[in-house]
Amino acid sequence: MSPETGQLALRLAKQIEGSGPISVAEYMRAANEEYYGSGDPFGVEGDFITAPEVSQMFGELVGMWLTDIWMRQNYPSNCHYVELGPGRGTLAADALRAMGRFDFAPTVHLVETSEALRAKQAANVPGAVFHDNIASLPTDGPLLVIANEFFDALPVRQLILTHAGWRERVVVRDRGTKFAAMPGSHAMDAAVPEHVRNAPVGSILETAPDSTGLMYELAARLAEQGGVMLVVDYGYVQPGLGSTLQAVKNHSPADPFSDPGTCDLTVHVNFFELANMARMRNLQIAGPTAQGVWLSALGINQRAAALAETSPQHTADIQAARDRLVKADEMGTLFKVMAVHSPDWPVPEGFGETVA
Ligand code: SAH
Repeated sequence: MSPETGQLALRLAKQIEGSGPISVAEYMRAANEEYYGSGDPFGVEGDFITAPEVSQMFGELVGMWLTDIWMRQNYPSNCHYVELGPGRGTLAADALRAMGRFDFAPTVHLVETSEALRAKQAANVPGAVFHDNIASLPTDGPLLVIANEFFDALPVRQLILTHAGWRERVVVRDRGTKFAAMPGSHAMDAAVPEHVRNAPVGSILETAPDSTGLMYELAARLAEQGGVMLVVDYGYVQPGLGSTLQAVKNHSPADPFSDPGTCDLTVHVNFFELANMARMRNLQIAGPTAQGVWLSALGINQRAAALAETSPQHTADIQAARDRLVKADEMGTLFKVMAVHSPDWPVPEGFGETVA
């Protein structure tokens, strides 16, 4: 499909031609709404594979991790399992099954905007309550929140340094035929913190107002209601400059400004900022730790051995999945795990080592 024939491409082109450029954030929001709204991108057949789709071990270990915290908190009875952007619902199903073995059965709340994915989640997680956003989550008990590859899909705002100063990075129509990013016309210097004001021309500063805003609100709930939140994503811990916006289609990189709505747009998650939001609500932070280190600390090797014993014919597949989740040259280092929790809840397991 050419950029000119996609429904969203046509709508955005018309909007830009009629009323001027849109911000990168607005473009990313529209593209991902369309992308996730139109189907199921996960798995070997789709555009990308996420950790819970690699192996049931991922969700099971998340479930065990939550169970351990719940037990050490003395079995509170009114907990709510909350997942942000649950994809197919695979992680939730695996985690809740593992929790059920310990008679831990919280109510289940899924925050999901895509109707197509809600249908899959409802099939995999019977009884789940759906939410458009976090505002309607229950207010009457501790929240156990999971966000795997969620924040990377939320819109990023980009500011770019030109010879004339900092500008918002916007999306235009290049010669009326394709989308392209360029500096906008309004001065944005006041929106840039002191320490990056004198960066080299061409530098890009990313912020993620949707992500930080959501984290700030959810952190207030955790402070008030008790509980814990787990964030797993690719991202960075030390703030830096540069665009991390990328597109993935059929398991390969694609041009983020071509065919909006037909490929997954993602950014690297700024763990530093997310942790800051939680800290401002007086939560405690654990990690970030490399995913491989965290899963190993939680016992993925033992879990793989147990699964292989039950189904010896699948030993090679189980080992391959374990390697994919843990090894440094696969998902083990690129993906980071961070937990934030109410100060009167126990320090979660698996965070012996933090990464820079
Ligand atoms: N956690 C899943 C899926 C990750 S993909 C997994 O690991 O497999 C991102 C998910 O977030 C999708 O389910 C997508 O529909 C959802 N999503 C994207 N933007 C959202 C938003 N603003 N609010 C709620 N869900 C959103």
